[in-house]
Amino acid sequence: MKDHYVIVGAGQVAAQTLDSLRRGGHTGQVTIIGDEAEIPYQRPPLSKKFLAGELAVERLYVKPATFYVHPNTELRLGVRAEQLDISRKTVSLSDGDELLYERLLLATGTTPRKITVPGNDLAGVHYLRSVADVDRIRAELPTVEHVVVIGGGYIGLEVAATCRQLGKKVTVLEMADRVMNRVVAPEISTFYAEAHAKQGVHIHTQALVSAIHASTKNPGRVAAVETLGGQSFPADLVVVGIGVLPVTSLAARAGIACENGIAVDEYCRTSDRDVFAAGDCANHPSLRYGRRVRLESVDNAFEQAKTAAANMLGASQIHDRIPWFWSDQFDLKLLIVGLNFDYDQVILRGDPASNSFSCCYLRGQELLALDCINSPKDYMAAKKLIQDRQHCDLGRLADSSIGLKDTVL
Ligand SMILES: Cc1cc2nc3c(=O)[nH]c(=O)nc-3n(C[C@H](O)[C@H](O)[C@H](O)COP(=O)(O)OP(=O)(O)OC[C@H]3O[C@@H](n4cnc5c(N)ncnc54)[C@H](O)[C@@H]3O)c2cc1C
Repeated sequence: MKDHYVIVGAGQVAAQTLDSLRRGGHTGQVTIIGDEAEIPYQRPPLSKKFLAGELAVERLYVKPATFYVHPNTELRLGVRAEQLDISRKTVSLSDGDELLYERLLLATGTTPRKITVPGNDLAGVHYLRSVADVDRIRAELPTVEHVVVIGGGYIGLEVAATCRQLGKKVTVLEMADRVMNRVVAPEISTFYAEAHAKQGVHIHTQALVSAIHASTKNPGRVAAVETLGGQSFPADLVVVGIGVLPVTSLAARAGIACENGIAVDEYCRTSDRDVFAAGDCANHPSLRYGRRVRLESVDNAFEQAKTAAANMLGASQIHDRIPWFWSDQFDLKLLIVGLNFDYDQVILRGDPASNSFSCCYLRGQELLALDCINSPKDYMAAKKLIQDRQHCDLGRLADSSIGLKDTVL
């Protein structure tokens, strides 16, 4: 069908792309295919306020339900896109339908990496990616005393903080030698481990889970988690947060180039000129950092969606943003701006004991990235400095009484 734009995946990217297509003047048909039951929603609260029961599901919606009520918009929920044929420009759906598209956007996001140890299929072992996942966890929480979180990344630590605030006994098992090891410097890992310990969360590092055990009373349900070496941790409920994998199967089967995600160029275009990809599933070139990256963040999802929509409409807009990300754990707001690839030193601004400080990542004197803990001022200034590849006076950078932008050489 001429002018028919199809979006596969009804998440953050889909909602923004539809908005940008309409604002960009697209009056033709847009069909969004989503395999979940909900209209597009924000995932960040899932491990935070929504898990705590402080938000109704409607508060998660990226746009209200009325936003999708439009004569040329169709939101097909509970339906999977199963096959993409780029030569015929068709996509087949799980309900038997086949759609003809002019341009298609893959916004398929990620799926949790599964733990493969014995006992991984016991009742009470959960992952956390969707509203349905949280509904299942919340249904069990009232009768749960011990929660074991497998994985000390952002999601694991956020779940740990929320469950602790709900009064649960919480243990985090992390196989690396420090939490959040993939993304932050050791100084920040230490700070977060201590912050959790102060709140009563038990974090064990170098703790590789080897088995999940059932209870003798209820053989189908989790009772303990064992780590290599034989240590056992009581568990009435387990949340596994050991990373995610980009959802690429539809693209890969269609012959679209994939490598750690669906490979796109700086215009969000895949190896097929009429198929675009954006958000968590897309691996794109970062001009600022001189390498390909796949980002899992709301900001990236929204910004790439805007670029993809513009280019689906015929523009030649480049996506090259300084990424940012946040994480809320207890009363600590972490804002990360930039990517710290290949840093050779870190400089702390402020005193971690005050719970308000920043960690600057540098290569030589060039500022690459910042982790800002309860320090929004540094965060605000950092973006431009990083974008402009500014070099800083390291002595002044270490002095938090000097504004970040006044440290530029
Ligand atoms: C618990 C949690 C906490 C988070 N916290 C933060 C945070 O604090 N800050 C931050 O910046 N980011 C956070 N994120 C990440 C952020 O939510 C993602 O970056 C964002 O949702 C990506 O949007 P997306 O549209 O690319 O993918 P998604 O929002 O994941 O949407 C993809 C959708 O596509 C569907 N789909 C996949 N394949 C098909 C198919 N073949 N047919 C139909 N539908 C399909 C999926 O089921 C899913 O609904 C968090 C994520 C989670 C899970």
